[in-house]
Amino acid sequence: EKKPKSLLYLDGVSVSFDGFRALNSLSFIVEPGELRAIIGPNGAGKTTMMDIITGKTRPDEGEVFFKGDIDLTKKDEAEIAQLGIGRKFQKPTVFESHTVWDNLELALNRSRGVFATLFYRLTGEDEGRIEEILATVRLTARRDDLAANLSHGQKQWLEIGMLLAQEPELLLVDEPVAGMTDAETAETALLLKEIAKTRSVVVVEHDMGFVRDLGVKVTCLAEGSVLAEGSIDFVSNDPKVIENYLGR
Ligand code: ADP
Repeated sequence: EKKPKSLLYLDGVSVSFDGFRALNSLSFIVEPGELRAIIGPNGAGKTTMMDIITGKTRPDEGEVFFKGDIDLTKKDEAEIAQLGIGRKFQKPTVFESHTVWDNLELALNRSRGVFATLFYRLTGEDEGRIEEILATVRLTARRDDLAANLSHGQKQWLEIGMLLAQEPELLLVDEPVAGMTDAETAETALLLKEIAKTRSVVVVEHDMGFVRDLGVKVTCLAEGSVLAEGSIDFVSNDPKVIENYLGR
């Protein structure tokens, strides 16, 4: 039995919905500290792959290991989050009527099992951690503003910050730059590269300029399996990728 000491290891994962094979013997490996981009046409199985990793969907076949030997197919969603896998969905879900700081404070408390409270006294260490996250997600100057008053891109960054408060070892990010300005998109590439210095990040994105900016290994999915994997130049010149995705 092969179990490489990778952070994440999907081996031959298949899942069908009403007879439709959304994932077809998909194998996928993420190493510690890696930033990986996932591309592919609609219906390729990108969301289903994220659902498998986070325990929202169970595979019909195949194995999913985290940190070498933790079998994620035996864990539920809450356990998987607790193990250190964070997921950011496409739409930001920040608390609009709270300040940027309070959103991060709530996220920090939530990561400790303290829900919906701002009355929990922060230690100096907690405050330092929130300041560090604010700097990472480019929101130091907006800390006292209501989340409702942030731009769409800044709300995405705040939500990434809220996930960082939970200290995930693996962060899954779904289409972060959709709807962002060009400047925000460029900044997001830098921000994710910084975040990946201390954890692994998997980012699903259609914006090829952004994926090129990331300059990392790319996995192109189609019809539930890996069509091509490698540098952006390698993947974007693959005839199968051009036919199934880029050329459309
Ligand atoms: P992508 O994210 O790459 O666009 P998805 O993973 O969302 O692809 O979808 C892969 C295929 O699986 C699609 O045809 C989709 O309709 C189907 N699918 C995904 N999740 C479900 C579900 N929970 N029930 C039924 N069909 C699903």
